[in-house]
Amino acid sequence: MELKLDFKFDAAHRLMHHKGLCHNIHGHTWKVRVTLLSVAPIGKKDGMIADFSILKDTFKPRIDYYFDHGLILNMDDKLAALTLIDGPLFDFKVRLMEGEPTCENIAKQLFMDLLSNLNTRKQWSEVDYGVKLQSIQVWESEKASAIYNSDDFMESIQ
Ligand SMILES: [Zn+2]
Repeated sequence: MELKLDFKFDAAHRLMHHKGLCHNIHGHTWKVRVTLLSVAPIGKKDGMIADFSILKDTFKPRIDYYFDHGLILNMDDKLAALTLIDGPLFDFKVRLMEGEPTCENIAKQLFMDLLSNLNTRKQWSEVDYGVKLQSIQVWESEKASAIYNSDDFMESIQ
């Protein structure tokens, strides 16, 4: 069984190698769907795999911390170096990532972020949520999205 939770964040990005409009800094309201695969049966007493409110409280602050109201840049972007300068002009949230900050790469990055965060936090293994991270889907518009899943992850580490 799969459990799905939807989130949103607002962030700007630009694609440094893009030849069209996306070369400019512009913003989106990004939609994120976290899909979790159950590794335990539905609880006989509570009728749940996991408590949605606990899952929401687990993911929402982390997604916001990583991306919300940030400027997402390719770490090779000239602008990335500027944002590292100390000073009031550049005192804003920037998220640097490997590769172009496309829907595809943001989905991949968020999968890695959440996975490493959950793996390094004892609470993930100590508290039995009964689920594991299956995929991250990211929409940059109503009709365009990318999904990064655990198979993609397993291929990337082989
Ligand atoms: Zn865009």
